[in-house]
Amino acid sequence: MGELIDGRKVSRDVLGRVADRVNALKSKGISPGLGIVKVGHDPASEVYVRTKVKKAKKVGINARLYELDENASQGQVMDLVLRLNRDPATHGFIVQLPLPGHLDTDAILNAVAPQKDVDGFHPCNLGLLAIGKPRFVPATAVGIMTLIDSTGVRLQGKHAVVVGRSNIVGKPVAMLLLQRHATVTVCHSRTRDLQRHVRDADVLVVSVGRPHLIPGDWVRQGAVVIDVGINRLPDGSLTGDVDFDGAIERAGFITPVPGGVGPMTVAHLMDNTARAAALASGIGLDG
Ligand code: NDP
Repeated sequence: MGELIDGRKVSRDVLGRVADRVNALKSKGISPGLGIVKVGHDPASEVYVRTKVKKAKKVGINARLYELDENASQGQVMDLVLRLNRDPATHGFIVQLPLPGHLDTDAILNAVAPQKDVDGFHPCNLGLLAIGKPRFVPATAVGIMTLIDSTGVRLQGKHAVVVGRSNIVGKPVAMLLLQRHATVTVCHSRTRDLQRHVRDADVLVVSVGRPHLIPGDWVRQGAVVIDVGINRLPDGSLTGDVDFDGAIERAGFITPVPGGVGPMTVAHLMDNTARAAALASGIGLDG
């Protein structure tokens, strides 16, 4: 029977360290500021944004929400992004996704100043990650690494299998695993014989968005299983991409949904913001 990885507990530890860093910055007269741009009223985004504002407050970061109308034009969103790029009180900011369909998401994300891009979605930050010199890394991907590290399992030489190749989770986490000397396989919708790859995984990260795509009996005995998927079932409950009840029988460690990766994303966004404030103040990323 596998051990549960408690994302709520691990995220509290991360937030504790962020609060310490924020206090240290404040003692030097720097008050970290996070901007959150929200366009329209996507119901999931409303929940995420509220959580981000709440957690920011908790660790002493000034979060400011910028809400634009559902019909806001590309120019209006770009103007706001450029304004935040120039605002010295905003050390980092995010544009909450998804944006309404009429907007050009890539153009908007590319306009965010890379040194304020605390979501780590700018091509410049993804490029730095790809060459092994990460600056801001997408928070979910860092959160996954923190969860794996919390198990005490060493990654070097292990076979890590990532299912899903999104720019915000699958690709960045694959690069972080590679940097930690795992041997990495990335699977996606065109992968032939997914089961064969999953069976061979010492570490399995699944970020697809399909309830129970991975049956429990595919999981290798003793594997570390990180389930990123968040799927709402017809009865309103949330479930992951892995059949949890079956997988926990075989896994060494496994994350639940909810209460696994979810809380880590917000915690590492706060960490990125504190680091952005340190960077802007010339203290350096680790200050
Ligand atoms: P995307 O929705 O952007 O992409 C899904 C990926 O899954 C694609 O790479 C796709 O392949 C792949 N895929 C689809 N079907 C299959 C299949 N049958 N077999 C193998 N691979 C398949 O991914 P995200 O990473 O953005 O989101 C995935 C899930 O994670 C969602 O449920 C989302 O809600 C959740 N999520 C949770 C977060 C958290 O904080 N816990 C943060 C971010 C996401 P292809 O590229 O070939 O189309």
